[in-house]
Amino acid sequence: MATDRLLADEMLGRLARYLRMLGCDTVYARGWSDEEIVRRAREEARIVLTRDRQLAARADRAVRVLAPDLPGQLRQVVEQVPGVRPDVAFVRCTLCNGPLRPEEPGTPAPAGSTGPGRPPPGTRVFVCGACGHQYWEGSHTADVRRHLAEWIAPGST
Ligand SMILES: [Zn+2]
Repeated sequence: MATDRLLADEMLGRLARYLRMLGCDTVYARGWSDEEIVRRAREEARIVLTRDRQLAARADRAVRVLAPDLPGQLRQVVEQVPGVRPDVAFVRCTLCNGPLRPEEPGTPAPAGSTGPGRPPPGTRVFVCGACGHQYWEGSHTADVRRHLAEWIAPGST
């Protein structure tokens, strides 16, 4: 999947998590100076997402996020950044942006992780290669898909 790489500034943490759910490689610039944001975006060829007009003007590539609310912000990024598709993809860890990989079949569940918080048997599980967090299709992803359908309805622009 070839989506653009993104870098969200400190004010856009919820947007960054959602974009990771869509499979976008999204760095969250928590506590970074504007200089660091501009430099890292250039080094890693990332599009800067920011509400700050001056920062947007300094970056090589930027989307100035105008909407105050998450639905409007997501809609704007989907419209303006090629390759961002409004569907859940198990590609990126929403916590740390690490790459997800399918869990090996037969991997025993970690101790203390059985019960309601575990996927039903036979569910495909994805694991973050960086922090080890696990992901699978469930009620949470169903909620996210429902939100996306409401927020980014075709022809709603
Ligand atoms: Zn992770």
